[in-house]
Amino acid sequence: MDHRGFLRRRADLATAGFEAAESPMLVINPAGEIAVASKGAGIMLGLENRDLVGVALENLFIPPSSVTHCGADGHCNTSMLRQLQVRHTGGDVIPVEVQCSPFTAYYEGDGAREESDRPNHCLMLLADIRKRDQEDQIRAARLAKLSLLNQVSEALYGANLTLDQILEAVLICMTAGQGLRFNRAFLLLVNEADDELKGEIAIGPSNADEASRIWQDLADQPGDLFEMMTSYDQSIKQTDVAVNEIVRNMILPLDDVENILIRVMADRHVLRVRGDTTMSGVDTIRRWLGCSEFAVAPLTTRAGSIGVIVADNAISGAEISDLDLEFLQMFANQSAGAIENSRLYRELEQRLLDLRRAHQKQKDDQETLMRMERLSVMGETSAIVAHELRNPLVAIGGFARTLMRNLDESDSNRQFADIISSEVARMETIIHDLLDFIRPKKRLRKEVVVDQIVGEAADRFQAELEGKGVRLEMDLKTDGLTLDLHPGEIQQVVQNYIVNAMQAQPDGGRIEVRSRLVEGGARIEVRDGGPGFADDVGEKLFSPFFSTKTTGSGLGLTICAQIIKSHGGITGAMNNPEGGAVFSFILPLPRNAPNP
Ligand code: ADP
Repeated sequence: MDHRGFLRRRADLATAGFEAAESPMLVINPAGEIAVASKGAGIMLGLENRDLVGVALENLFIPPSSVTHCGADGHCNTSMLRQLQVRHTGGDVIPVEVQCSPFTAYYEGDGAREESDRPNHCLMLLADIRKRDQEDQIRAARLAKLSLLNQVSEALYGANLTLDQILEAVLICMTAGQGLRFNRAFLLLVNEADDELKGEIAIGPSNADEASRIWQDLADQPGDLFEMMTSYDQSIKQTDVAVNEIVRNMILPLDDVENILIRVMADRHVLRVRGDTTMSGVDTIRRWLGCSEFAVAPLTTRAGSIGVIVADNAISGAEISDLDLEFLQMFANQSAGAIENSRLYRELEQRLLDLRRAHQKQKDDQETLMRMERLSVMGETSAIVAHELRNPLVAIGGFARTLMRNLDESDSNRQFADIISSEVARMETIIHDLLDFIRPKKRLRKEVVVDQIVGEAADRFQAELEGKGVRLEMDLKTDGLTLDLHPGEIQQVVQNYIVNAMQAQPDGGRIEVRSRLVEGGARIEVRDGGPGFADDVGEKLFSPFFSTKTTGSGLGLTICAQIIKSHGGITGAMNNPEGGAVFSFILPLPRNAPNP
């Protein structure tokens, strides 16, 4: 093969390759015309590439002067990228990025010029930058959203937000201008107790007027998620009534597995519903939302799906793009993690609280047990001491009375004997009541008619009361209610109340014994016409040894309280505004019994 032939074939090969290239490329000759054009250049300019040969550059570029230096004098700025414009034969003006590589070339036989090194040709690479602009925009949007996701992640995981705050933040990000820019967003969570997927909260304006006002307010607001939340708070809070009305209706049984929302949870993949999508449940959701296109993203955690986010552009009607979906999915994943975390955290807090309570109760129970043991020992000891004191006291009392009888009326010692006798009587009362209080009682309970045992207890005092000028009235109205009681103990309470009422009216008066059905049980009252008690002693009345009487033990009411408590009831005392005191107790109905 001769040297020239080889060169010719190599040049042909290079030209063929150049012409076949998809990238837009031109070789410009010294006259400023196209000498070779690639296929890509033809496509860009709307001509067959061969038809471009011989076309002057000035006829392609706008303005023509932008390329006058290419080719001919090689002054087209070596390798510098220039942003120029070319005209497509269809009329469109296309922004292009141009890179020139000037070079020197001569044709065979053009010997005279072969000596010159001046570049006289130019290889021109063209790039349509319309696409690049679009790509740049997408890249910028991606970057902005990634940065938002990062912020969301920091905000949701870093701050100690409550579940409600997290749900709100999620929806704000879904709709805010700096966020995913959906018009409206609805959040539904799985409610395991009821086996349903249930609407929790929603964000979004109800109509276009509101929308434009809010979006205007929020437009281009700088700042992080928290600023966004606060500014959103003010603008949106009053206006999302309508969407929250919608979200309240969103309830679906989890076993409706064909339903689009339940399916999205199972498939764990975001879904875009278009106007022509037909799937089970879609029409119901369209009815709820009042628009036919929407997106659904599952809130998925490692343990499974905990709910879905439904988002739409019902107000602006804007299409939900692939990019929107991509971010919705990423965002939903992140939100699900935060929601789950917050739920777990709350559960943990609750468990901790329960544990603390259980621990405190155990401590209290232990203390009560120890106190009861101590009291039981004290009770036994007091019973022995009281019992042992009773016989000597009886003897002392007897002797004092005998002494009194044997002493002359005028004898000054008679007064001392009288004091001994009355003090001994007081001590005997205390010992009697004390033994009554501490002696273990046989707990013989039976079903009795409440009014009957209360009436019997009061009747026993009839004669004594008459003797003291006290009128006894009975108003018993528990309608034959029967309760499981220790009748003797309950009668003792009624009697103690009556004795106190009698003692409060030494000059006569009236006592009324009343019974009534009340919520949860029967209330028994003993009302008197005495002076009542001082307001500041109210608390102490039922405490052991509180007495305002010279011969009182202060144990009567304590015994009453103990008996009523052992029946599961409560005692009470108050001064009647119309005069006198009212002492009462309530006997509860057995559990599960219907209220009378
Ligand atoms: P005691 O009768 O031995 O004093 P109680 O425990 O029966 O002991 O009563 C304690 C105190 O309650 C009495 O001393 C009295 O001050 C007050 N009290 C009880 N019943 C009445 C009543 N009906 N009216 C006014 N005060 C009363």
